Amino acid sequence: MNSPLTAPLLQMTLRAEPDIFVLRQRGREVATAVGLEYQDQIRIATALSEVARDLVRAVGGADVAFRAAGVEEGSPVLRVDLAPLRPFGPAGYEPTSGAVARLVDTLDLTPVGGVTVIRMSRRIPAHAEALTPQRLAELRAQLAQSAPASVLDELTSQNEQLIAALDEVRSQRDELAVLNEELEETNRGVLALYNQLSEELEETNRGVVALYAELDEKSAQLKAASESKSRFLANVSHELRAPVTAVIGLARLLADSASDPLTGEQARQVGLIRSSATDLLALVNDLLDLAKAESGRIEPDWTEVDLRVVFGQLRGTLRALATRPGVDLVVEEPPSPATLRSDETLLTRVLRNLLHNGLKFTETGEVRMRADLVDGRWRIVVSDTGAGIAPDQHERIFEEFYQVPGSTSGAGTGTGLGLPYARRLAMLLGGSLGVTSEPGRGSAFTLDLPVDGA
Ligand code: ADP
Repeated sequence: MNSPLTAPLLQMTLRAEPDIFVLRQRGREVATAVGLEYQDQIRIATALSEVARDLVRAVGGADVAFRAAGVEEGSPVLRVDLAPLRPFGPAGYEPTSGAVARLVDTLDLTPVGGVTVIRMSRRIPAHAEALTPQRLAELRAQLAQSAPASVLDELTSQNEQLIAALDEVRSQRDELAVLNEELEETNRGVLALYNQLSEELEETNRGVVALYAELDEKSAQLKAASESKSRFLANVSHELRAPVTAVIGLARLLADSASDPLTGEQARQVGLIRSSATDLLALVNDLLDLAKAESGRIEPDWTEVDLRVVFGQLRGTLRALATRPGVDLVVEEPPSPATLRSDETLLTRVLRNLLHNGLKFTETGEVRMRADLVDGRWRIVVSDTGAGIAPDQHERIFEEFYQVPGSTSGAGTGTGLGLPYARRLAMLLGGSLGVTSEPGRGSAFTLDLPVDGA
């Protein structure tokens, strides 16, 4: 029942000690022939000689057969069956060296035709030459011809193999030591990095926490300072208003035709007192307004406001101010419907302020106000053809008391409080106030307001 595939590649008998060497040598020969790798050749040969020694001692020897198995299944192995001369005792067979089983893929006892044989196998690598029936026949013929070497030869080659194996073990051990060292080094590095990072993180965290604390403290201080400034301004202006109003009243009385007549010089001086007091009152009033707006004490009175009405009133009241012959005041009619939710008084104040400035700083040309609905918001632009404002001053003019150097000459007096106040009011109304301007080309102040209030 031996087919060309399963027929033994080589058979031999094992009876005495010298046969062990022969078996070892021939085992390696068969292993080489079927394509096992060098290391595997040594492994299976060593396993064979170990088991053979056991068998010679325990049961007087064995009949040995080498086969290629599993070829048809696509997982070829070299299989060696060692059929003992006498049956094993009741304890069965256990290799003397426990390491033998590790040298091969399988090592077990298998019943074959009523006899328990020791069977070992080792996988033939996929890249080995294919074991076709023809190739197997060739191998059988080749193995049948080759004569076993002498015991001495086998011993020599065994020694060489042992030395090679030892060398390999040593070099592997050295490699392992180097690898271990590298691994330890890397571990140390990673650990150091980790420690450094977590230290840095902790440090940063501490810094951030401290920074926040400082920031909180500073903003509390800032709030307190701003509140006391507003309070101070409100109190001072309030206290100043009454005496200044009295000075104006008294000056008016002195200059009145019903009073005692004044000399020309006296009349001029009283006139100066009155105009200075009027300027002072304007400043005090502006301060009071601004302080109120800043302290949040102004509560807008939200109503439906019609821009056409507001524009109409401003057109009327400011016409009186537009006294320069070369300057036109143009208040365009807003597109209809021109309604929004806002506070009419505050809105009028902002626009009057802007128009007033326009008229004040424009020598020739026009001051124009127009309103447009853009993306669901009102955009009211007050533009003029006046002196214009340099870009680096665009934000500064919204600071309290700031006046562009040289801008007020010939433009009459001012307090530098109008724009900061107007911007405050714009914010209270839920909007914003900004400027675009170029020196020599005029300015455009844009008030942006929501349609439905803040
Ligand atoms: P005031 O007009 O009382 O000086 P404002 O706060 O209203 O104060 O304006 C601040 C400054 O901004 C003005 O002094 C002026 O230098 C500049 N400014 C405001 N409006 C205009 C404008 N329409 N054209 C040129 N400069 C302007």
